[in-house]
Amino acid sequence: MGSRTTILGLGAMGSAITARLRDTGHDTTVWNRTAAKTAPHAAAGSKTAATISEAIHDADTVLVVLLDHASVQEQLTPHAAELTGKTVVNLVTTTPNQARETAAWAADNGIAYVDGAVMAVPSMIGEHHARLLYSGDEHAYDTVRPILETLGTAEYAGEDPGLASLKDMALLAAMDLMLLGYVQAIAMMRTTGTPAADTAAEVEAWLAAMLPQGRELAAIVDGGTYDTGGQSVDFDRFGIQSLITASREQGVSAQLLEPHRKLLEELAATGRGDSDWIRIIERLTIQ
Ligand code: NDP
Repeated sequence: MGSRTTILGLGAMGSAITARLRDTGHDTTVWNRTAAKTAPHAAAGSKTAATISEAIHDADTVLVVLLDHASVQEQLTPHAAELTGKTVVNLVTTTPNQARETAAWAADNGIAYVDGAVMAVPSMIGEHHARLLYSGDEHAYDTVRPILETLGTAEYAGEDPGLASLKDMALLAAMDLMLLGYVQAIAMMRTTGTPAADTAAEVEAWLAAMLPQGRELAAIVDGGTYDTGGQSVDFDRFGIQSLITASREQGVSAQLLEPHRKLLEELAATGRGDSDWIRIIERLTIQ
Protein backbone atom coordinates (compact mmCIF):
# COMPACT_ATOMS: atom_id res chain seq x y z
CA MET A 1 0.00 0.00 0.00
CA GLY A 2 1.55 3.28 -1.10
CA SER A 3 0.20 6.80 -1.35
CA ARG A 4 -2.82 5.84 -3.40
CA THR A 5 -6.07 7.71 -3.06
CA THR A 6 -9.35 5.89 -3.40
CA ILE A 7 -12.38 7.67 -4.79
CA LEU A 8 -15.80 6.17 -4.10
CA GLY A 9 -18.37 7.53 -6.56
CA LEU A 10 -17.80 8.55 -10.16
CA GLY A 11 -20.71 10.86 -10.83
CA ALA A 12 -20.03 14.30 -12.28
CA MET A 13 -18.15 15.48 -9.17
CA GLY A 14 -16.30 12.24 -8.39
CA SER A 15 -15.13 11.99 -12.00
CA ALA A 16 -13.83 15.56 -12.01
CA ILE A 17 -12.00 14.99 -8.72
CA THR A 18 -10.48 11.74 -9.94
CA ALA A 19 -9.32 13.34 -13.19
CA ARG A 20 -7.74 16.23 -11.31
CA LEU A 21 -5.90 13.92 -8.94
CA ARG A 22 -4.61 11.87 -11.85
CA ASP A 23 -3.54 14.99 -13.72
CA THR A 24 -1.55 16.14 -10.71
CA GLY A 25 0.34 12.88 -10.46
CA HIS A 26 -1.65 11.04 -7.80
CA ASP A 27 -2.19 7.30 -7.97
CA THR A 28 -5.93 6.72 -7.88
CA THR A 29 -8.18 3.75 -7.32
CA VAL A 30 -11.84 4.16 -8.23
CA TRP A 31 -15.06 2.40 -7.38
CA ASN A 32 -18.56 3.17 -8.60
CA ARG A 33 -21.86 1.38 -7.99
CA THR A 34 -22.49 1.28 -11.74
CA ALA A 35 -19.24 -0.33 -12.80
CA ALA A 36 -19.39 0.91 -16.40
CA LYS A 37 -18.51 4.43 -15.22
CA THR A 38 -15.04 3.26 -14.22
CA ALA A 39 -14.07 2.45 -17.84
CA PRO A 40 -12.94 5.94 -18.93
CA HIS A 41 -10.96 6.31 -15.70
CA ALA A 42 -9.28 2.95 -16.22
CA ALA A 43 -8.38 4.02 -19.75
CA ALA A 44 -6.91 7.26 -18.37
CA GLY A 45 -4.73 5.45 -15.83
CA SER A 46 -6.75 4.93 -12.65
CA LYS A 47 -6.90 1.51 -11.05
CA THR A 48 -10.44 0.18 -10.80
CA ALA A 49 -11.80 -1.82 -7.90
CA ALA A 50 -14.64 -4.27 -8.37
CA THR A 51 -15.78 -3.91 -4.76
CA ILE A 52 -15.66 -1.25 -2.07
CA SER A 53 -13.52 -3.59 0.07
CA GLU A 54 -10.93 -3.78 -2.67
CA ALA A 55 -11.01 0.01 -3.14
CA ILE A 56 -10.58 0.65 0.58
CA HIS A 57 -7.78 -1.88 0.92
CA ASP A 58 -5.84 -0.08 -1.79
CA ALA A 59 -5.38 3.27 -0.08
CA ASP A 60 -4.84 5.17 3.17
CA THR A 61 -7.06 8.01 2.04
CA VAL A 62 -10.63 7.48 0.87
CA LEU A 63 -12.54 10.32 -0.77
CA VAL A 64 -16.30 9.77 -0.72
CA VAL A 65 -18.22 11.46 -3.53
CA LEU A 66 -21.54 9.65 -3.46
CA LEU A 67 -24.93 11.33 -3.82
CA ASP A 68 -26.19 11.97 -0.30
CA HIS A 69 -25.97 11.02 3.38
CA ALA A 70 -28.16 7.93 2.87
CA SER A 71 -25.83 6.54 0.21
CA VAL A 72 -22.82 7.21 2.43
CA GLN A 73 -24.42 5.29 5.29
CA GLU A 74 -25.51 2.46 2.99
CA GLN A 75 -22.07 2.03 1.46
CA LEU A 76 -19.66 2.79 4.32
CA THR A 77 -21.37 1.25 7.36
CA PRO A 78 -20.68 -2.37 6.35
CA HIS A 79 -16.99 -1.51 5.84
CA ALA A 80 -16.23 0.18 9.16
CA ALA A 81 -13.63 -2.39 10.22
CA GLU A 82 -11.79 -2.15 6.89
CA LEU A 83 -11.67 1.64 7.21
CA THR A 84 -10.16 1.60 10.70
CA GLY A 85 -6.82 3.43 10.70
CA LYS A 86 -7.54 5.14 7.39
CA THR A 87 -8.60 8.69 6.62
CA VAL A 88 -12.03 9.29 5.12
CA VAL A 89 -12.80 12.62 3.48
CA ASN A 90 -16.52 12.90 2.87
CA LEU A 91 -17.24 15.41 0.10
CA VAL A 92 -20.93 14.57 -0.13
CA THR A 93 -23.35 17.44 0.45
CA THR A 94 -25.01 16.87 3.83
CA THR A 95 -26.59 18.84 6.63
CA PRO A 96 -24.35 19.74 9.59
CA ASN A 97 -25.98 17.10 11.78
CA GLN A 98 -25.54 14.42 9.15
CA ALA A 99 -21.84 15.34 9.01
CA ARG A 100 -21.62 15.11 12.81
CA GLU A 101 -23.36 11.72 12.72
CA THR A 102 -20.84 10.35 10.23
CA ALA A 103 -17.98 11.84 12.25
CA ALA A 104 -19.25 10.15 15.44
CA TRP A 105 -19.53 6.84 13.59
CA ALA A 106 -15.98 7.27 12.29
CA ALA A 107 -14.64 8.09 15.76
CA ASP A 108 -16.34 4.98 17.18
CA ASN A 109 -14.55 2.91 14.57
CA GLY A 110 -11.08 4.47 14.75
CA ILE A 111 -11.42 6.17 11.37
CA ALA A 112 -9.83 9.61 10.92
CA TYR A 113 -12.62 11.74 9.48
CA VAL A 114 -12.74 15.02 7.61
CA ASP A 115 -16.03 16.38 6.37
CA GLY A 116 -15.99 18.48 3.23
CA ALA A 117 -18.29 20.75 1.26
CA VAL A 118 -17.61 21.56 -2.36
CA MET A 119 -18.48 25.12 -3.31
CA ALA A 120 -17.90 24.61 -7.02
CA VAL A 121 -19.28 22.81 -10.03
CA PRO A 122 -17.28 19.91 -11.50
CA SER A 123 -15.74 21.97 -14.32
CA MET A 124 -14.14 24.26 -11.70
CA ILE A 125 -12.32 21.47 -9.85
CA GLY A 126 -8.59 22.16 -9.81
CA GLU A 127 -9.01 25.90 -10.27
CA HIS A 128 -8.27 28.24 -7.42
CA HIS A 129 -11.77 29.76 -7.45
CA ALA A 130 -13.16 26.31 -6.63
CA ARG A 131 -13.61 26.64 -2.87
CA LEU A 132 -13.66 23.50 -0.77
CA LEU A 133 -14.50 23.75 2.93
CA TYR A 134 -13.39 21.17 5.46
CA SER A 135 -14.04 20.52 9.14
CA GLY A 136 -13.44 17.82 11.71
CA ASP A 137 -10.21 16.14 12.79
CA GLU A 138 -7.53 18.80 12.18
CA HIS A 139 -4.64 16.34 12.31
CA ALA A 140 -6.33 14.23 9.65
CA TYR A 141 -6.96 17.34 7.58
CA ASP A 142 -3.29 18.31 7.74
CA THR A 143 -2.31 14.80 6.66
CA VAL A 144 -4.45 14.84 3.53
CA ARG A 145 -4.07 18.55 2.78
CA PRO A 146 -1.66 18.07 -0.14
CA ILE A 147 -4.33 15.96 -1.86
CA LEU A 148 -7.15 18.36 -1.03
CA GLU A 149 -5.21 21.42 -2.18
CA THR A 150 -5.01 20.05 -5.71
CA LEU A 151 -8.83 20.21 -5.95
CA GLY A 152 -9.14 23.96 -5.40
CA THR A 153 -8.73 26.43 -2.57
CA ALA A 154 -8.91 24.34 0.60
CA GLU A 155 -10.21 26.01 3.75
CA TYR A 156 -10.34 24.43 7.20
CA ALA A 157 -13.41 25.69 9.11
CA GLY A 158 -12.82 24.07 12.53
CA GLU A 159 -12.99 20.95 14.70
CA ASP A 160 -16.79 20.71 14.73
CA PRO A 161 -17.36 18.32 11.81
CA GLY A 162 -20.64 20.07 10.98
CA LEU A 163 -18.99 23.44 10.30
CA ALA A 164 -18.10 22.92 6.64
CA SER A 165 -21.66 21.79 5.87
CA LEU A 166 -23.13 24.62 7.89
CA LYS A 167 -21.15 27.24 6.00
CA ASP A 168 -22.01 25.55 2.70
CA MET A 169 -25.72 25.58 3.56
CA ALA A 170 -25.64 29.18 4.82
CA LEU A 171 -23.99 30.43 1.64
CA LEU A 172 -26.35 28.38 -0.52
CA ALA A 173 -29.30 29.84 1.43
CA ALA A 174 -28.01 33.34 0.67
CA MET A 175 -27.69 32.47 -3.00
CA ASP A 176 -31.16 30.96 -3.07
CA LEU A 177 -32.78 34.05 -1.59
CA MET A 178 -30.81 36.34 -3.89
CA LEU A 179 -31.89 34.41 -6.98
CA LEU A 180 -35.50 34.54 -5.78
CA GLY A 181 -35.05 38.31 -5.95
CA TYR A 182 -34.29 37.96 -9.65
CA VAL A 183 -37.41 35.84 -10.08
CA GLN A 184 -39.63 38.45 -8.41
CA ALA A 185 -38.21 41.36 -10.43
CA ILE A 186 -38.44 39.46 -13.72
CA ALA A 187 -42.04 38.41 -12.97
CA MET A 188 -43.01 42.03 -12.25
CA MET A 189 -41.32 43.49 -15.35
CA ARG A 190 -42.57 40.74 -17.64
CA THR A 191 -46.08 42.11 -17.16
CA THR A 192 -45.04 45.04 -19.37
CA GLY A 193 -43.35 42.82 -21.94
CA THR A 194 -39.81 43.48 -20.69
CA PRO A 195 -37.57 40.54 -21.60
CA ALA A 196 -36.18 38.65 -18.62
CA ALA A 197 -32.63 39.26 -19.87
CA ASP A 198 -33.10 43.02 -19.65
CA THR A 199 -34.42 42.86 -16.09
CA ALA A 200 -31.67 40.45 -15.06
CA ALA A 201 -29.03 42.90 -16.28
CA GLU A 202 -30.68 45.72 -14.30
CA VAL A 203 -30.96 43.60 -11.18
CA GLU A 204 -27.30 42.62 -11.47
CA ALA A 205 -26.17 46.24 -11.59
CA TRP A 206 -28.51 47.22 -8.74
CA LEU A 207 -27.41 44.38 -6.48
CA ALA A 208 -23.74 45.12 -7.21
CA ALA A 209 -24.31 48.71 -6.03
CA MET A 210 -26.16 47.49 -2.93
CA LEU A 211 -23.71 44.75 -1.89
CA PRO A 212 -21.80 46.86 0.67
CA GLN A 213 -25.08 47.15 2.61
CA GLY A 214 -24.64 43.54 3.69
CA ARG A 215 -21.56 44.34 5.76
CA GLU A 216 -23.17 47.45 7.21
CA LEU A 217 -26.12 45.34 8.38
CA ALA A 218 -23.72 42.76 9.80
CA ALA A 219 -22.00 45.49 11.85
CA ILE A 220 -25.39 46.40 13.37
CA VAL A 221 -26.03 42.74 14.25
CA ASP A 222 -22.59 42.42 15.85
CA GLY A 223 -23.19 45.68 17.77
CA GLY A 224 -26.31 44.07 19.22
CA THR A 225 -28.24 47.25 20.05
CA TYR A 226 -30.30 47.81 16.88
CA ASP A 227 -30.50 51.52 17.62
CA THR A 228 -28.09 53.02 15.07
CA GLY A 229 -30.77 55.24 13.56
CA GLY A 230 -30.59 53.43 10.25
CA GLN A 231 -33.65 52.27 8.35
CA SER A 232 -36.20 51.32 10.98
CA VAL A 233 -38.72 48.51 11.26
CA ASP A 234 -41.60 50.98 10.82
CA PHE A 235 -39.99 52.57 7.75
CA ASP A 236 -39.30 49.20 6.22
CA ARG A 237 -42.88 48.01 6.92
CA PHE A 238 -44.18 50.70 4.58
CA GLY A 239 -41.50 49.93 2.05
CA ILE A 240 -42.23 46.24 1.87
CA GLN A 241 -45.98 46.91 1.75
CA SER A 242 -45.40 49.08 -1.34
CA LEU A 243 -43.51 46.25 -3.01
CA ILE A 244 -46.31 43.82 -2.20
CA THR A 245 -49.02 46.18 -3.46
CA ALA A 246 -47.11 47.02 -6.66
CA SER A 247 -46.57 43.37 -7.34
CA ARG A 248 -50.23 42.50 -6.89
CA GLU A 249 -51.33 45.48 -9.00
CA GLN A 250 -49.35 43.94 -11.85
CA GLY A 251 -51.06 40.58 -11.27
CA VAL A 252 -47.95 39.03 -9.73
CA SER A 253 -48.08 37.09 -6.47
CA ALA A 254 -46.22 38.60 -3.54
CA GLN A 255 -45.70 35.31 -1.74
CA LEU A 256 -41.91 35.62 -1.92
CA LEU A 257 -42.09 39.03 -0.21
CA GLU A 258 -44.70 38.18 2.42
CA PRO A 259 -42.33 36.48 4.91
CA HIS A 260 -40.29 39.70 5.14
CA ARG A 261 -43.43 41.74 5.86
CA LYS A 262 -44.57 39.20 8.46
CA LEU A 263 -41.27 39.40 10.36
CA LEU A 264 -41.42 43.21 10.41
CA GLU A 265 -45.04 43.15 11.63
CA GLU A 266 -44.08 40.77 14.44
CA LEU A 267 -41.33 43.14 15.58
CA ALA A 268 -43.61 46.18 15.40
CA ALA A 269 -46.24 44.31 17.43
CA THR A 270 -43.71 43.81 20.23
CA GLY A 271 -42.91 47.53 20.38
CA ARG A 272 -39.74 47.46 18.30
CA GLY A 273 -40.89 49.65 15.41
CA ASP A 274 -38.04 52.11 16.08
CA SER A 275 -35.33 49.46 15.93
CA ASP A 276 -33.05 48.98 12.95
CA TRP A 277 -34.98 46.73 10.60
CA ILE A 278 -32.23 44.09 10.63
CA ARG A 279 -33.52 43.22 14.09
CA ILE A 280 -35.77 40.75 12.26
CA ILE A 281 -32.81 38.40 12.66
CA GLU A 282 -34.01 37.86 16.24
CA ARG A 283 -37.29 36.49 14.88
CA LEU A 284 -35.40 33.80 12.97
CA THR A 285 -34.22 32.07 16.12
CA ILE A 286 -36.52 29.13 16.81
CA GLN A 287 -37.34 29.08 20.52
P1 NDP B 1 -24.14 12.51 -9.63
O1 NDP B 1 -25.61 12.36 -9.61
O2 NDP B 1 -23.48 12.88 -10.91
O3 NDP B 1 -23.45 11.16 -9.11
C1 NDP B 1 -23.94 10.53 -7.96
C2 NDP B 1 -22.96 9.44 -7.58
O4 NDP B 1 -23.46 8.81 -6.41
C3 NDP B 1 -22.82 8.34 -8.64
O5 NDP B 1 -21.52 7.83 -8.59
C4 NDP B 1 -23.83 7.32 -8.15
O6 NDP B 1 -23.55 5.99 -8.58
C5 NDP B 1 -23.59 7.42 -6.67
N1 NDP B 1 -24.69 6.90 -5.86
C6 NDP B 1 -25.92 7.44 -5.68
N2 NDP B 1 -26.63 6.68 -4.82
C7 NDP B 1 -25.83 5.65 -4.46
C8 NDP B 1 -25.97 4.57 -3.57
N3 NDP B 1 -27.10 4.36 -2.88
N4 NDP B 1 -24.94 3.72 -3.44
C9 NDP B 1 -23.78 3.92 -4.12
N5 NDP B 1 -23.57 4.93 -4.96
C10 NDP B 1 -24.58 5.80 -5.11
O7 NDP B 1 -23.79 13.57 -8.50
P2 NDP B 1 -22.49 14.48 -8.38
O8 NDP B 1 -21.29 13.68 -8.69
O9 NDP B 1 -22.72 15.74 -9.13
O10 NDP B 1 -22.54 14.86 -6.85
C11 NDP B 1 -21.84 14.11 -5.87
C12 NDP B 1 -21.87 14.92 -4.57
O11 NDP B 1 -21.18 16.16 -4.81
C13 NDP B 1 -23.30 15.28 -4.11
O12 NDP B 1 -23.40 15.20 -2.73
C14 NDP B 1 -23.44 16.71 -4.58
O13 NDP B 1 -24.37 17.43 -3.79
C15 NDP B 1 -22.02 17.23 -4.40
N6 NDP B 1 -21.79 18.42 -5.21
C16 NDP B 1 -22.03 18.39 -6.55
C17 NDP B 1 -21.93 19.54 -7.32
C18 NDP B 1 -22.21 19.54 -8.78
O14 NDP B 1 -22.28 20.64 -9.36
N7 NDP B 1 -22.36 18.38 -9.44
C19 NDP B 1 -21.54 20.83 -6.68
C20 NDP B 1 -21.23 20.72 -5.28
C21 NDP B 1 -21.38 19.57 -4.58
P3 NDP B 1 -24.18 5.40 -9.95
O15 NDP B 1 -23.29 5.87 -11.04
O16 NDP B 1 -24.18 3.96 -9.74
O17 NDP B 1 -25.58 5.97 -10.05
